[in-house]
Amino acid sequence: MPEKCRVAVLGAGASGLAQLRAFEAARRAGIPADTLPDVVCYEKQSDWGGIWNYTWRTGLDEFGEPVHSSMYRYLWSNAPKECLEFADYTFLEHFGKALPSFPPRVVLWDYITGRLKKSDVRKYICFCTVVRWVEFDEERQKFRVTVKDLKGDVTRTEEFDWVVVATGHFSVPHFPVYPGMDKFPGRILHSHDFRDAAEFAGKNVMVIGRSYSAEDIAVQCHKYGAASVIISSRRGPFGFDWPPGITERPLLRELQGKTAHFRDGSTAEVDVIILATGFQHHFPFLPDTLRLQTANLFYPPNLYKGIFWNNNPRLIYLGMQDQCFTFPLFDAQAWYARDVILGRITLPGREERGRDAAPWREREAAWTPAQKDEGIMIHFQGEYVQDLLDATDYPKFDVQAMVRTFEDWEHQKVGKGGILTYRDKAYKSLITGCMAPEHHTKWMEERDDSFDNFIHGPAKN
Ligand SMILES: Cc1cc2nc3c(=O)[nH]c(=O)nc-3n(C[C@H](O)[C@H](O)[C@H](O)COP(=O)(O)OP(=O)(O)OC[C@H]3O[C@@H](n4cnc5c(N)ncnc54)[C@H](O)[C@@H]3O)c2cc1C
Repeated sequence: MPEKCRVAVLGAGASGLAQLRAFEAARRAGIPADTLPDVVCYEKQSDWGGIWNYTWRTGLDEFGEPVHSSMYRYLWSNAPKECLEFADYTFLEHFGKALPSFPPRVVLWDYITGRLKKSDVRKYICFCTVVRWVEFDEERQKFRVTVKDLKGDVTRTEEFDWVVVATGHFSVPHFPVYPGMDKFPGRILHSHDFRDAAEFAGKNVMVIGRSYSAEDIAVQCHKYGAASVIISSRRGPFGFDWPPGITERPLLRELQGKTAHFRDGSTAEVDVIILATGFQHHFPFLPDTLRLQTANLFYPPNLYKGIFWNNNPRLIYLGMQDQCFTFPLFDAQAWYARDVILGRITLPGREERGRDAAPWREREAAWTPAQKDEGIMIHFQGEYVQDLLDATDYPKFDVQAMVRTFEDWEHQKVGKGGILTYRDKAYKSLITGCMAPEHHTKWMEERDDSFDNFIHGPAKN
C-alpha cells in the first residue's frame, strides 16, 4: 500500500488554522478519509490564534523563545469585521446575533478560534512545539522537519510530502537607528513590545513610522492621556484630520538628549519613542534555498499565486503578503493550497509559474505614492483573492462589495474627525446581509474592551 501523504502546517495563527479548516471542509464534503493527507500542525505557543493570542509578555516567553504576539491590550479591529468575515462561518453563526462592526481583539480571537472548535481539529496541533529546521531530501523527495517539544525538552525529526509555512510576518521587528538613540534619557521601544497605552499618560510620545500600527498607536496614546503625540515619518502626511494633541513631522534626523531634530530643521521635546517601523520576514528554520526573502509586498517574489515556492512548489507559504484583506485572503489561499495537495488543481511548470506572477509584480512595482494613498492595493488584493477563489469550492461571496466596504472605511478615516470616529460606524455583512448595530459607547469614550462588554453590554451594578 502506498505511504499516506503527510502535510506539516507550521503555525496555528489565522493562516495555519485556515489550512486545517480547508482539509476539514473537504472531509465534511465527503472526500474519503483515506484519500486525505495526514496533517500535523506545529505551534510554538501554548494556545492557538497566532498574533491574536494576546500576551502581557515582551522579550522572551516562558520557554526562552521570542514572544510572538505584537498585539496590545486595547486593540480594537482597525478595519470593519465585515471585511474580515469567513464566508463559511459568519459572525452571525458564531455569536448568534448581530454585533457592531469594530470588535476588540478578544472578540476576534474568539471568532477565529471558534470556527476550529466546531471542526474538532485541535487534535492535529502540537502546541508548545517550535519548528527548528526544515530541509528537503532530494533523493527521497521528502521534507525533514525538526521540531522541539518545549515542555518535554525533546527534539525530533519527521518526514513530510508538503510543508505549509504559516508562521506570520508581524513579529520580528525592523529597527532603524538614529544618531543620539544611545544617549536618549527616556524609553525607546518597538511597536512589537507596545502593550498598554495607559503607561504613556502625561508623556510626550513620538511614534516613528507610517504604518497602520503607527497611526493606531498614536491614536491609542492620545486616547489614554498622552500629553502630546508626534508622528514622524519619511513618507508625507497621512491625510487625517488629527485632533489637537497629535501632530505630524518629517523623519527624525537625530536626538540630542530629549530633543528630537527633524529633517525640516524643527525640533521637539519627547519622553518616549515608539518605533512603528515594521517587521521582517524571518524564517530561522529555513535554509536559503527554501527561504522567502522579501520586503512587505502585496505580491512577494518567487511565489506562484503568492503561495507556492517556485523552486519547490511543495513548500507553501500562507499569509506572507502585505495585507488589506486578512482572514478571507488566508482562506482563499488555504483552499487553493489544499486543492493542489489533493491533486484537484495541477500546478503548471516552473517557467509558466514565473510568467503568471510577473504581471502582478510589475503592477505593484509601478504604483505611485498618490495611487497608494488612494488605496490601489485594495483593488489589487481584491483581484488576487478573486483569482484564487474562482479555482476552488470555497463559498462564493462578493469580493468587489468587500473592496467597496474597505474603500468606504478608508474614506471615513480621512473625513473630518474621522480618525477618532471611524470605529463608530456600522456596516452590512457581505455574507449574510445582516446590518451591524452601533456599539453602545463611542469608541473614544469606551475604556472597556472586554468580551462581555462588547457582546452583552455594560455590566449593571
Ligand atoms: C499590531 C497588529 C494589529 C493587527 N490588527 C489587525 C486587525 O485589526 N484586523 C486584521 O484583520 N488584521 C490585523 N492584523 C494583521 C494580522 O497579521 C492578521 O490578522 C493575522 O493575525 C495573521 O495571521 P497569520 O496566521 O498569518 O500569522 P500569525 O498570527 O503571526 O500566526 C503565526 C503563528 O506561527 C507560530 N510560529 C511562529 N514561528 C514558529 C515556529 N518556528 N514554530 C512553531 N510555530 C511558530 C506563532 O506562534 C503564531 O501562532 C494586525 C497585525 C498586527 C501586527
